[in-house]
Amino acid sequence: MNRSIITELKSRLIAGVGVASVLLVTSGAIAAPQLVLVDAKVFTADPALPYAQAVAIEDGRILAVGSNEQVRALIGPNTRIIDVGGRLVTPGLVEAHVHLGNELPTPPLAMLNLPFPGPTGEQALAAVEQAAKTRTDWIYAYVGPLVARDQRNWRKALDLVAPNTPVFLRGFWGHTSIVNSEGLRRLGITENITDPLGGWWGRDENARLDGRAYEAAETITPRIRPLTPQYLATAFGAAQQRYARWGVTSIHLMNNDKSLEVTLAGLAAAKPAQKWTVYSWGAWETPIERIPDAWAMIDAAAKQALAKVRVEGPKWMLDGTPIEQNSLQRNAYSNRPGWRGRSNFTDAQLREILKLALDRPTQLALHVVGDAETDRLLKMMQELAPISVWRAKRVRLEHGDGIQPDNTEKVAQLGLVVIQNPTHLSVPIAGESLASEHMLLKSFIAAGIPLALGSDGGPREQNPFLNLMLATLNTAEPAEALTREAALMAYTAGGAYAEGQEQSKGRVAPGFAADIAVLSQDVLTIPAPQLPATTSLLTLVEGEVIFEDAVFSSAK
Ligand SMILES: [Zn+2]
Repeated sequence: MNRSIITELKSRLIAGVGVASVLLVTSGAIAAPQLVLVDAKVFTADPALPYAQAVAIEDGRILAVGSNEQVRALIGPNTRIIDVGGRLVTPGLVEAHVHLGNELPTPPLAMLNLPFPGPTGEQALAAVEQAAKTRTDWIYAYVGPLVARDQRNWRKALDLVAPNTPVFLRGFWGHTSIVNSEGLRRLGITENITDPLGGWWGRDENARLDGRAYEAAETITPRIRPLTPQYLATAFGAAQQRYARWGVTSIHLMNNDKSLEVTLAGLAAAKPAQKWTVYSWGAWETPIERIPDAWAMIDAAAKQALAKVRVEGPKWMLDGTPIEQNSLQRNAYSNRPGWRGRSNFTDAQLREILKLALDRPTQLALHVVGDAETDRLLKMMQELAPISVWRAKRVRLEHGDGIQPDNTEKVAQLGLVVIQNPTHLSVPIAGESLASEHMLLKSFIAAGIPLALGSDGGPREQNPFLNLMLATLNTAEPAEALTREAALMAYTAGGAYAEGQEQSKGRVAPGFAADIAVLSQDVLTIPAPQLPATTSLLTLVEGEVIFEDAVFSSAK
């Protein structure tokens, strides 16, 4: 078989030559594909041919998409043929926002196992007091919003029940941590510590540390448990297996409190099965003057990343969340008169970050949750550069919870990509109104805003089909629910677009990477409550099988 013909064929396929005419050209004339999937319901995420019956794969790429007859005509003696029995075949899913490897050490103090929204202050203190009777080393626990919003002096309260034992309480969603005096002592944190860029230390009326670490000040966590490449390799490896069973072929890792170096070493040790894109955390406990150097290191790493690993720019946390009530809102929080949250950066600092983004080649990602913080960002972007310049930068808005109807047009014009996390739609606490008035989804698409979906959750919430259910119900605002097709589009082609890879992956289309999932059930039609039980039966990354259910492996 003549490679040049294949090359020519591929370039024609990539150029968008119609599938049927190309298949006529290739039929019987050149080498057969390595693998074909037939008798499928193929959701292609490709507007040129939204649905098909069969796919041919060769050399890690999709060679052809079309009817069973067209694709069967390409089969050769060495082609593996998988009859998927009418099941749904989709582009491999893109998990567009997840944090991995930053869990608290195990075994921690048993997570205070109380109904959501978590323990009250008194319950947390009682549990710590009990644990302190027998322990001399760190007591850790995740806590919920009731503790996070409890404005008492936590350092003093914990010192009373654990005077000699270090205690570390962390919000399960990040953004806030609480340490007692013994904990501060062991961490080497003294009264004269200065606030890091993008975060702050809580202080009482006498300017004494009150035990609370907010936002970037939370980088104390890794000092408690050093994150080694080996530790991360285990966490990344487990995540790869989990995701492979859900048909996820790309993972956008929000790298939080880990250095890029240790994360890349961890990924290398885990041997990437999926395609990873790493967004580093934009706070390095460094002064703002040093940020250009840190960003330059990211740019350098992006040029020499491992196979299957991409490195993009920093992710900055511009504000907090409604859970601890630090996202910056237009209106005061309903149960905390006068408090609208706060920004993590001054105007001057945010301007510096945005100006740097204009200069650097890697992509900028911004955690923005509050509607007022969204207003501030959009205004500043418009002041700093013309819309056309920003469009080319394709800045990511992680979450987008705070984009209100009066801002969708501006967001679309600036070319911002919204990565929404359907798990956030179920966060509102019983009896409490949402921090922002609207939780949009459908309106993003209507306004022409590119949309990707990610879980922003732990191992259970990472299930893309749970997120598909949440996005298509949007219980926070049902009128803003997505259709199943729109949600699946956001989870595939939308995710590829969010990282600038829409020309090579995220669709089942000729010339695209053969990143594909065969699903156990038709997620486009089954009743919503059944969605989370969906699994992948066959997951391919560039044509390589990374997960295969016995139903297919036994039929080889
Ligand atoms: Zn997140």
